[in-house]
Amino acid sequence: MTVFDGRQNSHSSIFHVDTKKPVNILVVEDSAVDRHQISRYLGEWGLNFQFVADGREAWELLQKPEAADLVLLDWMLPGIDGIELCQKIRALGTDHKYIYTIMLTAKDKKQNLGTAMSAGADDYLAKPVDPLELRARILVGKRILELQQSLRFAASHDSLTKLLSRAEVLAGLDRELARGQRTEQPVAVILADIDHFKAINDSQGHAAGDEALREVGRKLKSCLRQYDLAGRYGGEEFLLVLPNCELTSAAKRAEKIREVIYHNPIKAHLVSISITLSFGVTVGEVESMLTGEQLLQQADQALYRAKELGRNRVQTFPISRAAQSSGAR
Ligand code: GH3
Ligand code: MG
Ligand code: MG
Ligand code: MG
Repeated sequence: MTVFDGRQNSHSSIFHVDTKKPVNILVVEDSAVDRHQISRYLGEWGLNFQFVADGREAWELLQKPEAADLVLLDWMLPGIDGIELCQKIRALGTDHKYIYTIMLTAKDKKQNLGTAMSAGADDYLAKPVDPLELRARILVGKRILELQQSLRFAASHDSLTKLLSRAEVLAGLDRELARGQRTEQPVAVILADIDHFKAINDSQGHAAGDEALREVGRKLKSCLRQYDLAGRYGGEEFLLVLPNCELTSAAKRAEKIREVIYHNPIKAHLVSISITLSFGVTVGEVESMLTGEQLLQQADQALYRAKELGRNRVQTFPISRAAQSSGAR
């Protein structure tokens, strides 16, 4: 039996959508005969799947962020029955990943179809399961999941750079600050702004400017850890949120990004464009209990100072008048 490993999927939130990922299926079925038959088909088609025989156990798994993408759900189950489980899945709401649900049941009467769909099922399949029909239904489910994920991605990401949108990265900052309070870990905030970007647009054209923004976005992401957040905060301004990161580490990370971009001119429309970034860095310590807004103000003050001191540099908050030239070139 192919079993999917939930850990591979632990970032399957709106921040980490990959529509090319294989679909993970959870089969909730208490009949050993049906389980055997379904696992034979799914195995033959090379699909990732996992079985549970109890409704309560299924509910435990489905509430997790790394829950299956698609559930084949038997109607009659010990613990919680299929209909109640369906209602519970839908009640998880839009903050949770969308779980595509196919009800399986020997009851193939029309009124059962209505009951299943009103409970929130996406589709319905009579048992014993016909392999052609099962395969077709899974394909439809996969297509709908991909469509749903791409809509979610478009709603939460900036269309040019594919980084998080402003609203999404700000929501992420608040979420990480709350998590940092619970786990007693600091959260670093970095504001990065492209230097003299207007001049790049003016000399190279807007299309080259757009390509430069895309490339800066790619480079920013390549310098971050998987659980860091990167968003487009404004036109040529980026907001990075680094959970569990002290001020000195965050400043080092910003310095690393600064160097990568400084030393690798961007190729756009057959021209090579030298770009530099200025950075404002601050940290939300557990004891200080600062809000996202307060941290952004601090990062913005530091960024302003970095610009004032000549750009292409990293400035931390609080701004020590004696050590203003950190990272200066
Ligand atoms: P500074 O070093 O002080 O940050 O100077 P700057 O020129 O980068 O800053 P300014 O705020 O004067 O200009 C930002 C420019 O960014 C102006 C705007 O046209 C450009 N910009 C904003 N969004 C986009 C975009 O999506 N594409 C392109 N090509 N340019 C953009
Ligand atoms: Mg059953
Ligand atoms: Mg700028
Ligand atoms: Mg700016």
